[in-house]
Amino acid sequence: MKLHFHGAAQTVTGSMHLLEVNGHALLIDCGLFQGPRRESFERNRHFPFDPRKIDAVLLTHAHIDHSGNLPNLVLQGFDGPIYCTSATAELTHIMLLDSGHIHERQAEAVSWRNAQKGLEPVDPLYTQEDAARVQPLLRGIPYDELFEPVPGVLTRFVEAGHILGSASVPLEVNEKGHTRTLWFSGDIGRRRLPLLRDPQLPAQVDALVMESTYGDKPHRNPEEAYEEMRQVITRTIQRGGKVIIPAFAVGRTQELVYNLNMMYENGDLPEVPVYVDSPLAVNVTDIFKKYPDCYDAETLQWIERGHPALEFRLLKYITSLDESKALNAREDPMIIISASGMAEFGRIVFHIRWNIENPRNTIMIVGWQAPGTLGRRLADREPFVKILGETFQVQAEISTIGGLSAHAGQDMLMEYARAAHAQKKGVFLVHGEEKAALPLQAKLEESGLKRVFYPAQGAVLEM
Ligand SMILES: [Zn+2]
Repeated sequence: MKLHFHGAAQTVTGSMHLLEVNGHALLIDCGLFQGPRRESFERNRHFPFDPRKIDAVLLTHAHIDHSGNLPNLVLQGFDGPIYCTSATAELTHIMLLDSGHIHERQAEAVSWRNAQKGLEPVDPLYTQEDAARVQPLLRGIPYDELFEPVPGVLTRFVEAGHILGSASVPLEVNEKGHTRTLWFSGDIGRRRLPLLRDPQLPAQVDALVMESTYGDKPHRNPEEAYEEMRQVITRTIQRGGKVIIPAFAVGRTQELVYNLNMMYENGDLPEVPVYVDSPLAVNVTDIFKKYPDCYDAETLQWIERGHPALEFRLLKYITSLDESKALNAREDPMIIISASGMAEFGRIVFHIRWNIENPRNTIMIVGWQAPGTLGRRLADREPFVKILGETFQVQAEISTIGGLSAHAGQDMLMEYARAAHAQKKGVFLVHGEEKAALPLQAKLEESGLKRVFYPAQGAVLEM
């Protein structure tokens, strides 16, 4: 059995692992690598294996850095089943359509700029039509139901508590009379996140492949994040400004809506209109409403008491572009939540562009930002940023709220890794930059774990 680390190796995006066993090939996640345009285009277009030789895919969750390169896999000849939870299947379909749309728009914009310079047009990474070809291959499987994606591999989806439908995958691999156990964490959530159930810890396995996004530090507790967010919003409203929040349409947006719902319910915030400006987030919210069986007990009680979790009086979901543009003409204080989460594309880019030079406003960064993205440049407090080809001086307040992450912090990752007792083959840290993974590796070793690795792109584990 061979495990190839083909993505999210020593970086955060592009999750992709290939397991070769009994002459079959099983891909675990097929994420989009996100970074500078040309580099990411090349990496996403060229798989380090032949997509026609993949028998099946296990998909841990719908986030684009785990699912976003499936359209290319299918374009290049993969036609096997893609197993995931039912909620993930629904979310992935609409996320990929949205992603295809974004790639088309981006290619149009670059081609237009190229034309001005007498250069050739560029192709989109994939189109919406390409993305639609993934859906017929998606197979929704209930949590905790055993199944055999390829001969000799037994698996099930276990609650990962990260976003709706997110799962970890334990694998029992039987080859030539030997049994090996592996556990892929996928992205690990946190305890007490709004809406979602808590992540399930692994049982003892031979090898653990674990994310390490926040391996360098424990998170502040969610109550502190809630309080900080409340303070930032309050002072922005008091000075008559707008709060602009880039947020992933899946997960983060619903979490923010839930928090704001609580703040208003508790009378903790001055009343201003709240807009979720993202057609995708609207569709995602509808899917959230279809899967109350994925909610935690607290949310279910809240709903039973007659409060819809994702609706409140001041909240409006916006789909039309005209309504979106109309927000920019208004001067009154408001809260705008819009995608993409790293402010690389989508309507949020226009909201930031429009509001960044007004010191009354706040741009609130509420999640991890990939290097090279606008979100990262803002979070790094760069004084000038380039948006859609134009340079802007950052005059709005920039606030970064750390504790809202949907990823486990260092303490939870430690607990997770230790629960797996993966002393035979070890713990393999993925989905983390060096500055996060190396301190976690050191800390795990300090705690007595002997074999903790941080595999490079293309590394192979033989078992
Ligand atoms: Zn994720």
